[in-house]
Amino acid sequence: MEHNIRIELVDEANRKPIPRDSASLGFGRHFTDHMFLMNYSTEKGWHDPRIQPHQPLCLDPAATVLHYGQQVFEGLKAYRAEGGGINLFRYQKNFERMNRSCKRLQIPALDVEKAIAGLKELIRIDQDWIPTDEGCALYVRPTVIGIDPFLGVRPSSTYLFYILLGPVGAYYPEGFNPISIYVSDNYVRAVAGGTGEAKTGGNYAASLVAQKEAQDAGCSQVLWLDARERKYVEEVGTMNIMFRINDELITSPLTGSILPGVTRDSVLQLAKEWGVHVSERLLSIDEVVEAAKDGSLKEIFGCGTAAIIAPVKQFVYQGETYQVADGGTGELSARLYKTILDIQYGRTAGPEGWVERIDM
Ligand SMILES: *Cc1c(COP(=O)(O)O)cnc(C)c1O
Repeated sequence: MEHNIRIELVDEANRKPIPRDSASLGFGRHFTDHMFLMNYSTEKGWHDPRIQPHQPLCLDPAATVLHYGQQVFEGLKAYRAEGGGINLFRYQKNFERMNRSCKRLQIPALDVEKAIAGLKELIRIDQDWIPTDEGCALYVRPTVIGIDPFLGVRPSSTYLFYILLGPVGAYYPEGFNPISIYVSDNYVRAVAGGTGEAKTGGNYAASLVAQKEAQDAGCSQVLWLDARERKYVEEVGTMNIMFRINDELITSPLTGSILPGVTRDSVLQLAKEWGVHVSERLLSIDEVVEAAKDGSLKEIFGCGTAAIIAPVKQFVYQGETYQVADGGTGELSARLYKTILDIQYGRTAGPEGWVERIDM
């Protein structure tokens, strides 16, 4: 094998039962039998790529990641392709982003070739776990953690990279279920110069308190405003967010506090191809409120790998609830969802290079 991946397989007798009931798969609850790992040290760089049984990690309790959060992760999906094989969707972008996140967290750049070789081999080994039902996929979670057993605040000199796989269910098994979102003006997620552009665990730990507020207000996600003026809409939960006001599709520009989503980029490209007037511009919450009041707010939707498109039926801001159009799923939201899913499953050819079929 060109990357010399060491492989230790789980005995047939000890394999976990593969969940077959796609309706109860959910998200992030099931993991396949194996995982890919490799280590980094200053002397050896990224080394010892290996596939092992999915099992607890052995870390020193002083490990950097456990105290100072030196960690980054990614999230992407593999799909059972129309006509056989397995499709990966724009995964190079995930690894590019992972390396940008690494840079921000002072983690040495990942050996992307080794990581991708490991990913493909891991998927081959655990391919029986990829669900077949519409909307279901194999979720891929690459992660890097600093593991020096040392309590000083400095970048770790040793790291562990690993990839977990797990089958995930359709986000909308019975059709779209538009969500309610809560505009937080007590808390902020990120500020330019901070870590909002990086996919790093600490961002999510810091968001939990606002998520609780949202839930208390009967909403499922937080809509974050910019940290400086608490005025411009930025992101929702773990998704980028888009607004259609009349015929303009608006999303925040990548200001330094926004996570540059692969789905965001895909939505913008498709919408432009379809002739939609697309604007990456600052959009104030006041403008959104006005548009909701005068009827020009046609759609709001979140976009990210897990849900692809998450239509929003209403938002709560400063104690007021505003409905988005008729509260149903907008036409652009539905078209984007269907098109992206069709491309991911290989039923429609997407733009050049979006889908790579790996033969099993
Ligand atoms: C992962 C993530 C997104 C969406 O990125 P995708 O590449 O589309 O999955 C958006 N915002 C935040 C904060 C995220 O963590």
